[in-house]
Amino acid sequence: AKETGKARCVIYNHEKFTQPEHDVSMEAAMFQAVRDGEFLLHYQPIVDARSRQIMGFEALMRWARPGQGMVSPSQFIPMAESNGLINLLGAWALKSACVQIKRFEEIAGRPLYVSVNVSPRQFRNDQFLDIMDEAMALSGLDGQQLLLEITEGILMSDPEHAEALLHAMTARNVRIAIDDFGTGYSSLAYLKRFPIATLKIDRAFIKDVPTSVKDVAICNVVLSLASHLNLSTVAEGVENEEQLEFLAAHGCGLIQGYHTGRPLLPDDIIALLKSQQTS
Ligand code: C2E
Ligand code: CA
Ligand code: CA
Ligand code: CA
Repeated sequence: AKETGKARCVIYNHEKFTQPEHDVSMEAAMFQAVRDGEFLLHYQPIVDARSRQIMGFEALMRWARPGQGMVSPSQFIPMAESNGLINLLGAWALKSACVQIKRFEEIAGRPLYVSVNVSPRQFRNDQFLDIMDEAMALSGLDGQQLLLEITEGILMSDPEHAEALLHAMTARNVRIAIDDFGTGYSSLAYLKRFPIATLKIDRAFIKDVPTSVKDVAICNVVLSLASHLNLSTVAEGVENEEQLEFLAAHGCGLIQGYHTGRPLLPDDIIALLKSQQTS
């Protein structure tokens, strides 16, 4: 992929996403955008629920479309998945994120990890393992500092392939997280079959805790399940102190959400890490 390991930084208002007018023109623009380097990554802090120290970051893709602001990944990732561009974009994201996290570590003066989303098509790609190896070689990142986020559906659509791939990753100490846990076809069988390290509890279940009795029950069951299976847990979409305190008190290890840090450009993450150094 082009611009290997480089982050393209563009100034923009990162919380305002534009709606695409025509999907066809968007698709054409997308191929051009890959060539022109209009994709970039934001990094969202993932913090320890108790100490609130930053432990790692999730890399989140953005498309800075000239004259149109930010296009949301929920708009362009499905399109990239269907036209195949996700393989190129995903390889770039993986390499770029691994290189970036090394820079963050130098600033922080301690190990950090990076969480990278892997789409079904990337996961099925024969070259994925090579791309991952390249990303680690290029960056010098240890396998244990890389967490790959996949969804439940990926595992069940081709379990033989998934099993081989996941064991190859485990051999490199690369960990696997189940993203949006609980929202897919939640057969729990895959937790037994595959070497999963982490469950990311979807924002849908976090949103109304601690007021919703049902969501509290669901969170507690997931946290208990994770604890019994020795899996780590990340709560997604934590937006306030009450949610954080509930999750910390009920054994959720890691927190990700606007309350503890929005997705930011690398320079802003570096400023944040520097500001936390003395504390
Ligand atoms: P996701 O993997 O579930 O990522 C979490 C989403 O929640 C991100 O949306 C993040 O910005 C948002 N978020 C984080 N904290 C909060 C919060 O406190 N409240 C609310 N309301 N939202 C929060 P984003 O960045 O728009 O990404 C959307 C989805 O696009 C991601 O969902 C992921 O499925 C996909 N995506 C993003 N980057 C990549 C990538 O590099 N590769 C692939 N394959 N997919 C990606
Ligand atoms: Ca994710
Ligand atoms: Ca998620
Ligand atoms: Ca989600």
